[in-house]
Amino acid sequence: MISKNLKYLKQSIVKAAKRVGRDPSEIKLLAVTKEQSNVIVTEAIQAGMTLLGENKVQEASGKIEVLGRNGLEWHFIGRLQKNKVKFIFDLFDLIHSVDSFSLAEAIHKKALKIGSCMPILLQINISGEKSKLGINPLNLPEEIKKIAKLEGVKVCGLMTIPPFNSNPENSRSYYVRLRELRDTCSNLNIPRINLNELSMGMSNDYEVAIEEGATMVRVGTGLFGPRST
Ligand SMILES: *Cc1c(COP(=O)(O)O)cnc(C)c1O
Repeated sequence: MISKNLKYLKQSIVKAAKRVGRDPSEIKLLAVTKEQSNVIVTEAIQAGMTLLGENKVQEASGKIEVLGRNGLEWHFIGRLQKNKVKFIFDLFDLIHSVDSFSLAEAIHKKALKIGSCMPILLQINISGEKSKLGINPLNLPEEIKKIAKLEGVKVCGLMTIPPFNSNPENSRSYYVRLRELRDTCSNLNIPRINLNELSMGMSNDYEVAIEEGATMVRVGTGLFGPRST
């Protein structure tokens, strides 16, 4: 089932990219493996998936211990508590969900201690919902300038999660706003800051996200079917 879903997903990604004149190879598909068993994740790896996304440090750690990091990239997409920062360097290649200067600073400090640098995306709360994490878009230029000075993190782009809605068209305006915010901040030419990546789009709305500029789509149920819990 996974290889069939994957084939369908890849085709729709290509079609969505072509609709807006984008090169499909700019778009990375992240398989969101949260709550999936190692057997299922192994099946996805055998079907050719190399980018895997997890939203809990402890759960990811158990999976990575078994499946390894060789030939794979593990991305963290969930709420990152500061007391878990010390674990992320052995587990993840990219953190999508840095939602504050203080979290970026905590990652930076740990990175300096171990002589490393962590690639990150800044999570933006475009919708302003209280339940959502993320930097307020109005504060982003000022926050990015501060984060740019932290040598232990490398900002590679922005991420957002729109309010859930079964109609993908309702996500479009949020994705447009993330792209516009990215363009505004890129034009500030802040040293060390590169905002190439736009992590946006999930199973229900990845095509709309691609039409609006996504470079990474995070797909769970669309690949694996419903999660076990
Ligand atoms: C679970 C999750 C996804 C995947 O959601 P699906 O609707 O299953 O594709 C994407 N992004 C984040 C941040 C998630 O937590």
